[in-house]
Amino acid sequence: MESRDYMNLSTDKAFPKLLNPGESLLMSLKVIKFNKRNKAQERTIALTSTSLLNLKGKKLQRRMDITSLGGITRSKHGDEFVLHSPSEYDYRFGSPLKDQAIQTLCQAFKNLTGRTLYVWESNEISLKDLTTTKSDKKKGLNKMPAPETAINFRGEVPNFNEESKDSRGKRSRTIFAATENPSAALLDDFTILKVLGRGSFGKVMLVRRKDNGQLYAMKSLRKDALLESDQVEHTKTEKLILQHINHPFLVKLEYAFATSTKIYFVMEFMKGGELFYHLREAKRFPEDRARFYAAQVGLGLGHLHEQNIVYRDLKPENVLMDEFGNVYLSDFGMAKMLGENGSTQTFVGTPEYVAPEIISCAGHNITADWWSFGVLIYEMIVGIPPFYDQNVNLMYELIQRGKLKFPVKSPVSDNAKDIITKLLDRDPTRRLGAQGFNEIKNHPFFAPIDWVALEAKRLPTPFTPRITDPLQAENFDREFTDEAPTDSVIPENKLNMILQNQEQFQAFH
Ligand code: AMP
Repeated sequence: MESRDYMNLSTDKAFPKLLNPGESLLMSLKVIKFNKRNKAQERTIALTSTSLLNLKGKKLQRRMDITSLGGITRSKHGDEFVLHSPSEYDYRFGSPLKDQAIQTLCQAFKNLTGRTLYVWESNEISLKDLTTTKSDKKKGLNKMPAPETAINFRGEVPNFNEESKDSRGKRSRTIFAATENPSAALLDDFTILKVLGRGSFGKVMLVRRKDNGQLYAMKSLRKDALLESDQVEHTKTEKLILQHINHPFLVKLEYAFATSTKIYFVMEFMKGGELFYHLREAKRFPEDRARFYAAQVGLGLGHLHEQNIVYRDLKPENVLMDEFGNVYLSDFGMAKMLGENGSTQTFVGTPEYVAPEIISCAGHNITADWWSFGVLIYEMIVGIPPFYDQNVNLMYELIQRGKLKFPVKSPVSDNAKDIITKLLDRDPTRRLGAQGFNEIKNHPFFAPIDWVALEAKRLPTPFTPRITDPLQAENFDREFTDEAPTDSVIPENKLNMILQNQEQFQAFH
């Protein structure tokens, strides 16, 4: 059998010393090991010609004789597998390479005993209820299935290729590196501290990474909610964009991983909260302050457009502020990568901010974002969006045909009026920005901006958010921060749906 030494233990200095004379290494791989409290722990296992070695880092935790195995239960739809040890207690592991591991164990068992190892299959993703723990043992419980129900596991491993030797590229079920950053993460690496906000498919929580104490914002998305609202594709785009786009005014993704029921994005924690929060506090911003935010948002949008990505959900709720007062676009759940013809039909967005061509389903392209950009500048300066009405249908009517009005009580400068009017042009081909962000950059409204200094974050910010203690999340709505900080459990009745559609989430594992 060829060596499947994915963790390169054979070239390690210390590892060979753990082997007995005549014992050879057959396979090493990274796994998730579930402990008796159902906690996932990252471990390396080494399968040798006689034993299974469980390693925490380089340290040997437990050595299990392969001949003592009673059999293996394999999850049909997930990455878990349980090694049943009738004389001791079971091991529950998770790994995308589980079939290679089972095959290796079966082969070694056959070599040592001449017998075929029992393999059972379960439809469950989590094999928790099929694992005999130490305390089960004490109570005389044994969860190993009956031999009659074993399957004929031939250990054929389709599509096995050498690429999976790269332990950075292929990881166990709950881990994967979202960026080129080799430091992958899993849920267990973070302590959940507070709820920061809520999106349509899950919540965003303030978390601390246990090993370095760093704070992050962790967005969790429920797979059942994504399936029910047909949002799996949008979420894939969100991950792709977060992963590949790197810009001073776009929120950065640090880690991404998935469990069998949820998808997690771990991002930089924007301690200043939503621009919306600050706009509500201030009611409206002086033009200088509005200009500064608009310039940063414009650079972020312009960068997305250069990559042929339309953002489609610009609004003050999606613009987040760091501790210094710089702003960033976040939430790419609505963004779309445009194809050849550069236009799209789907109706998405938030009523107040949606462009007229989206309402009339005329097909839209990146210039729809510049309409929303005009709405944003108007709302920042005036305090309410330009065509606002409580009745959404009337608001759509006003967006399509209403006259753009500026308040007389709090006068708006001519330059601001002019840029807003040109951005809110109902003809997308004539709209300011149709020829690219440079058109907007060069408008007199932005004349006071030193773009190079702005992009380098060298300009003084017009406002610094109050942050007494980042853990208090004081720039976030109490409606969320007062909530109990827990990652919710998916209801039983949704699990089956997730299980049946698990293949749709492959890109996240
Ligand atoms: P989203 O679903 O991305 O719109 O996020 C919902 C809310 O969570 C946002 O409106 C913010 O209040 C908060 N949030 C999202 N991402 C972050 C982040 N990176 N830092 C701080 N708060 C965030």
